[in-house]
Amino acid sequence: MDRFAENRENMVLRQLEGRGIRDGRILAAMRKVPRHRFVSQRLQDHAYRDMPLAIGHYQTISQPYVVALMCELLQLSETDTALEIGTGSGYAAAVLSQLCEKVITIERIPELTNKARSTLVEAEVPNVEVHCCDGSLGFPDQAPYDAILVSAGAPTTPDSLMQQLKPGGRLVIPVGTTQSRQDLLRIRRTSETSFETENLGGVAFVPLIGEMGWAN
Ligand code: SAM
Repeated sequence: MDRFAENRENMVLRQLEGRGIRDGRILAAMRKVPRHRFVSQRLQDHAYRDMPLAIGHYQTISQPYVVALMCELLQLSETDTALEIGTGSGYAAAVLSQLCEKVITIERIPELTNKARSTLVEAEVPNVEVHCCDGSLGFPDQAPYDAILVSAGAPTTPDSLMQQLKPGGRLVIPVGTTQSRQDLLRIRRTSETSFETENLGGVAFVPLIGEMGWAN
């Protein structure tokens, strides 16, 4: 037990169950992962609040509810391999690691990549690989994936990511015509050549910067 256990439990009850997150595996993962370890010492007392928090380099760790919602939308099973674009603090990757067999997570900012890598080692998260590169191109080396989570807002859905889904695979991505507001989309690959898209409503993410994202 850490000193944040009660805050974490309240986060799960009020912010997640209270807003309709029902998947027991996701609730268990969010109960387990110590979110306070993924923010700076100065912000630890705020780690379980219902909001994103700054992690440096003008980037954020996403609001807990948004992490839970995106994981739920991915419909992960224990044998899945998931790709996350936008490692940030490493928190969402740690949650994903509780829900599937292997997680590959990509971050474009070297300092955040190194920090997330060391946080994940310190938090003893075993099944996550962290890479520093342009995730708007996906990560072809280990494709195809059962699930892809994009934790930054794209101007359009990158074809590179759609092509790295297995048949039946799911891509959850915020897409919007401005850098500050997006619609959260779930795209399912229904066959080699066809995809189904659902729009789950408005969200606000930092921009996906890269060749298939926004210009820097
Ligand atoms: N999932 C993160 C967490 O749990 O802390 C929060 C992600 S933060 C909202 C978005 C991250 O996406 C930032 O760290 C940003 O640097 C990263 N990012 C933006 N464009 C990227 C790209 N093309 N490839 C990889 N990472 C990118």
